[in-house]
Amino acid sequence: MSEMRIQEAMETLKGSGVRITPQRHAILEYLLQSMSHPTADEIYKALEGKFPNMSVATVYNNLRVFKEVGLVRELTYGDSSSRFDCNISDHYHVICEKCGKIVDFHYPGFYEVEKLAEHVTGFQVSHHRMEVYGTCPDCKEKEQH
Ligand SMILES: [Zn+2]
Ligand SMILES: [Zn+2]
Repeated sequence: MSEMRIQEAMETLKGSGVRITPQRHAILEYLLQSMSHPTADEIYKALEGKFPNMSVATVYNNLRVFKEVGLVRELTYGDSSSRFDCNISDHYHVICEKCGKIVDFHYPGFYEVEKLAEHVTGFQVSHHRMEVYGTCPDCKEKEQH
């Protein structure tokens, strides 16, 4: 799958005037292939062997660039570190309470909730987040053994 998405992402970067460095390419490739909503630290650990001079800060800076041009979404969870999602289509997440794994699933957006919230509170609503929690198949398997 990912070769085409990487090409598309590269075009988006070029179109936004962002220079494509080997590190940038590698980070984007990792994001597009992993589908696992990694943290900056996980990306760093996966790529440090290939780029010994790269720091976590470099990874962060690149992720910020990708976010600005709309290639990734940042998911913040209180005080734990942000996760990065390269699936920018509308989707929801189911999160494993044991290992923290985040999996995408599609369901029609709850836009009525946004409308109702606007109506009853007078807020101008920009977006919403909904997450489903549970135990992933891998963790469930481990529990049974
Ligand atoms: Zn799990
Ligand atoms: Zn996602």
